[in-house]
Amino acid sequence: MTQSSQIIEELDDCFVKTAGNIVKYYADEEERQRVLEKLRDLLKENCMESARIKAANKIRKDLENLSAFEPERKVEDVTKEYRTAISEIQVNSLEDNRLLTYDRQIQGLLEANEAVSGNGPDDTDADLQLMYSQINVIDPISKTRMTDPVRNAVCGHVYDKESLVAMLRKNKNTRCPVVGCTSMDYIDLNQCRPDVVTKMYLEKNPA
Ligand SMILES: [Zn+2]
Repeated sequence: MTQSSQIIEELDDCFVKTAGNIVKYYADEEERQRVLEKLRDLLKENCMESARIKAANKIRKDLENLSAFEPERKVEDVTKEYRTAISEIQVNSLEDNRLLTYDRQIQGLLEANEAVSGNGPDDTDADLQLMYSQINVIDPISKTRMTDPVRNAVCGHVYDKESLVAMLRKNKNTRCPVVGCTSMDYIDLNQCRPDVVTKMYLEKNPA
């Protein structure tokens, strides 16, 4: 993992955590929605900016390679070419995996919040069961309660980080152990990110 991608991951986690705080502290649904939309716009802008930087770096590299083969090319020409190419960069943030991942997390966050706030004083065990069925707190690998949940971006399943790392250390070519998972890919630790929703739920509902 490069340093910049790690920074982006940390930034994305901050966005989700901020959204979590908004969901927690804004009681007025309309206002909450408005603030959440603002936050999403910020993330979207950041995704587009990152995509632009990525594209610009690629153009620069391509031009550098080209210049190595054609040393007679004038600097002004190369600069002009670079400027033109940069001005033509088009980014579609909807293709950005970061935004999709964020949307999925926020949806989970809102569902979790609804389940928790519906938990009134006269709740029955059935309601509690329903809440637990919406958010899984049991690690599919160790079959114990998770403490550090991570979500596999490939299939969406959540595992406890410690047991996942231990499992992959034993055999790095391991597929998702969740029964019924349709992903045939081996689990890639880089694709497994902290799952803020499950983490929040665990904190709210101590064992
Ligand atoms: Zn899976």
